[in-house]
This record gives sequence, structure tokens and C-alpha cells, in this order.
Amino acid sequence: MTLIAERLVPILRSLPQGVRLAAVSKFHPVEELMEAYEAGQRVFAESRVQELMRKVEAMPDDVEWHFIGPLQTNKVKYIVPFISMIQSVSSLKLFDEISRQASKVGRTVPILLEVHIASEDTKSGFTPEELPQVLEAVLARGSDTGVKIAGLMGMATFTDDREQIRREFRRLASLFREMKERFFSDSADFCELSMGMSGDFELAIEEGSTIVRIGTTIFGERRY
Ligand SMILES: *Cc1c(COP(=O)(O)O)cnc(C)c1O
Repeated sequence: MTLIAERLVPILRSLPQGVRLAAVSKFHPVEELMEAYEAGQRVFAESRVQELMRKVEAMPDDVEWHFIGPLQTNKVKYIVPFISMIQSVSSLKLFDEISRQASKVGRTVPILLEVHIASEDTKSGFTPEELPQVLEAVLARGSDTGVKIAGLMGMATFTDDREQIRREFRRLASLFREMKERFFSDSADFCELSMGMSGDFELAIEEGSTIVRIGTTIFGERRY
């Protein structure tokens, strides 16, 4: 077994039913992604469009790609034809551009709305307070937008304070349930809660995560 497989497989085995792993492969070379692929991983997450496009070319066709980084509207058109999920939708402008490009190619692209739950303001996302208006606005665009609102994504504060991290995840999970009840009571679409990274995914799972995004624990430190 390769080192990457040795790190990946125990994580995969530890995930409870209903929790999926997005292997965060940003800044890692294709050879390392292939090691994870050969150990059974199929969902990979990237944060830069150019790097993603290069890896899509090099990796097998049955990989599911998730986008998790800041996304410029002028680059949306490159990823919409194939992307399995855009997890980092943090503006209406971005939503509308995904919708426009998806309609052009006849796809429905699953997205997550990113919510700012951390105490640092370096992280992006809608505030919990504005989320209801955001959902009202996007749902007012109709059901035929080429976008499926599949749930929420958030990142906890980078801190050693486990209780703070837990509080932030708990807040996101309760917001998720609230929005589901209020806006998606007659739809199964809104079902994903993406939270948890290398340092905090066990906590996130305890608090109700359905997608964990793990990079460093699988691939090692990123070489920027
Ligand atoms: C880079 C990144 C991750 C992975 O972080 P690790 O600590 O390496 O597991 C997860 N989510 C997002 C949004 C990221 O940008």
C-alpha cells in the first residue's frame, strides 16, 4: 500500500453511513491523486480552475470533481460542463452565472451555498443572518435555473479551541435544518451539509456533516 492509501483507507472505513469524503487534492500532483484513486477514492475537490482543468484531462473519467474555492464568474463556463458540485457559492452574481452557463449546456449543476461561520473574516460566504433572503432570492428565480441548491458548506475557525469549533458546526447544522424546513419542505434536493476538514472532521461528523473535505491528512502538507 502507498502512504496515501495508508492514510486514506482508514478514513474511508471510519466514515459513518451517509457521510461522503471529498479528497481535497489542490496543490498535489496527479500521481498522488492516482494513488488515492487506486485505493478507491472517486470524489476529488479542487480550488483553482486552471489546476482543475489540467487534472480533469489527466485523471480517469469516473472521477467526480467538486469545486471548493473562490470562483470568478468569468471562469464558471470552463467547469460547468463537467463539475459534480460547486461547494463555494457565496454571491448571487456567481449563482446567476452558474445558472446561465448550465442552461447553455443543458445541465443542472448541484451547488452548496457557503456560509461564513468562523470568527476570522478572511473566510468567505453568506452570513447566517442573510441566508434566508438569499434563499428567497434564488428560489424566486424559478425551478428551471440549471442549478440545484443541494445544501450548505462552511469552514470553522482555525483554532485549537474544540468547543468553539463544535459551536460553529452546531450553528451551521441548525441553520441547515431551519432552511430545509422553511424552503425545501416538499423537496429532497437540500440534503448536503459540507463541513469538516483534516483538523476537525470528526467533530463535524458528530454535528451532522454529510460531506467532509479532507486534504492534508490524506496527501500531506501542500507545497504552495
Ligand atoms: C483546502 C481546503 C480544505 C482541506 O483542508 P485540509 O486542512 O488540508 O484538510 C477543505 N475545505 C476547503 C474549503 C479548503 O479550501
